[in-house]
Amino acid sequence: MVTASPQDPVAAVRHEVSALHAELVRYNLVAWTAGNVSGRVPGTDLFVIKPSGVDYDDIAPHNMILCERDGTVVDGDLSPSSDTAAHAYVYREMPEVGGVVHTHSPYASAWAARAEPIPCVLTAMADEFGGPIPIGPFALIGNDDIGKGIVSTLTGSRSPAVLMQNHGVFTIGRTARAAVKAAVMCEDVARTIHLSRQLGEPVPIPQGDIDRLHERYQNVYGQR
Ligand SMILES: [Zn+2]
Repeated sequence: MVTASPQDPVAAVRHEVSALHAELVRYNLVAWTAGNVSGRVPGTDLFVIKPSGVDYDDIAPHNMILCERDGTVVDGDLSPSSDTAAHAYVYREMPEVGGVVHTHSPYASAWAARAEPIPCVLTAMADEFGGPIPIGPFALIGNDDIGKGIVSTLTGSRSPAVLMQNHGVFTIGRTARAAVKAAVMCEDVARTIHLSRQLGEPVPIPQGDIDRLHERYQNVYGQR
């Protein structure tokens, strides 16, 4: 077991990733033991991820799993999440990514089940996603297909979220917290735009305005 200290970057990531799992529960993004968060140990290709099949109430820094860039376990008593290979692929291929989140959050997964991108029809969506939330390919677990689908869909996209067809949501961020935020916002806009469509056809936002909103939110909004 690794204990926390500010001098120990692995311990710091164990604490951060463990605590962020509570946000998936708080925002109703997960059922039973589904869903997972991982975080890169800064400056390395090591990452920390949830153990497989552990109740959210039992998640703690000491049972998080430390993995190498190929997904093999470096430190941890339990088996890592069954999605570890997908997370590892993203960390290998996208060095700017510091956190990855996976959920089957219900409204976003309903769009994934139809293989339909979520259109950019809310200013909050232009802010966070800079356009539609794209659909990634249908891919089975067990090799690098899910990771390849995430990376190929998000490379060159402004969206930090991808809806993997017939599956669910993967999000990336510069930090694990940013990836969790993207997962929360993805479900929020999936729900609202679903509700809007029950009443009629949502009105698109012109591309120039999407660009301006995204630029402002990414560079000006919030505390500096
Ligand atoms: Zn899944």
